[in-house]
Amino acid sequence: MSKVVDHLAELTGFRDRDVLDTTLAGALRDLLQPLRVAIHRCVGEDNDRRWLTRARLEATEAAATADPLWVEFDSLPAMDDFPARVSAIETHEMVTVVGVPHTAVFPLFTDRDVAGVVEIETDGPLDAEQQRLVASILRIYRNFQSLLDYSERDTLTGLLNRKTFDEAFYKLSSQTQEGALIGGSGERRAKSPPQSHYIGVLDIDHFKSVNDTYGHLIGDEVLLLLSRLMRSCFRYHDRLYRFGGEEFVVLMRCNTDTDAARAFERLRTSVAAYAFPQVGRITVSVGFTELKGGDTPSSAFERADKAVYWAKTHGRNQVCSHSELVQRGELEDDSKVGDVELF
Ligand code: GH3
Ligand code: MG
Ligand code: MG
Repeated sequence: MSKVVDHLAELTGFRDRDVLDTTLAGALRDLLQPLRVAIHRCVGEDNDRRWLTRARLEATEAAATADPLWVEFDSLPAMDDFPARVSAIETHEMVTVVGVPHTAVFPLFTDRDVAGVVEIETDGPLDAEQQRLVASILRIYRNFQSLLDYSERDTLTGLLNRKTFDEAFYKLSSQTQEGALIGGSGERRAKSPPQSHYIGVLDIDHFKSVNDTYGHLIGDEVLLLLSRLMRSCFRYHDRLYRFGGEEFVVLMRCNTDTDAARAFERLRTSVAAYAFPQVGRITVSVGFTELKGGDTPSSAFERADKAVYWAKTHGRNQVCSHSELVQRGELEDDSKVGDVELF
């Protein structure tokens, strides 16, 4: 019993979701002694959902492995490749696959739209008490995730809130050198991780007139739909924030200005093409910048924000790179900060 309590204390001791999944796998492995335990998440858009392995732990392994976060999306297995997992998610029930080994698949519901499964492989079927133990641990895990969401996410859109930005910003610097967050499984095609990070700031064009014309409720719906478009344009490992009002921020790992511009341009065009109920078309302006050594969260944000401001004063509905604007002499290069290379 005390072992269970120890594991629960450890599980709820981290606010870092990346660590949470490995801790959960470790707890289940120690408590049930299965052949293997794994946590898989559904990623991607509705019409192309894939499985990303967040933690996999064998009976004798010391540390969990996982798919690298920047794994090539197309190399991930499709949802339908694992019918038992799909069935567990759809039915909200444990699904057992009898065979060698036996596999018990438990559904995982955490965020409002990110789902996954815990897969436990054993020589024989889990007995009733073991099943209850897993179900209880997963309930605690889910409650804990809900608490995290409550403190870290914006209630309207479900995107991360501004409060969590600084911490994520500094965490990126410590991850840049690592090959993978918790060791790649090596099974999937992984690109070498992009070495740079970019921050993009997005502001809706003439949003005040949306509120003035259609009211705040419709305005809020636009914000919600926009956040969904953002999720579909960016990957699992990109961090999406609502900074407040109708201002959004993206923190992404990416190699070049051109790649970053392409990603933001994809978002801009999909927003411009989307028919928002009642409101019709809206557009957004985006400014982005690469994170530099010595940057603080606010210095990087300020550069991107200046690029947005330039976009606003030069026609809106466009994506502007801060460095390109500086090169063209449109903006002053006042972002030179220290010599310390953080990234
Ligand atoms: P611009 O193209 O220059 O950005 O014009 P704008 O009208 O979008 O100007 P600005 O970004 O300054 O306007 C922000 C407006 O966003 C003011 C307010 O009416 C609206 N807004 C801010 N927060 C919320 C919110 O939570 N819900 C809704 N519905 N509207 C909000
Ligand atoms: Mg604004
Ligand atoms: Mg605006």
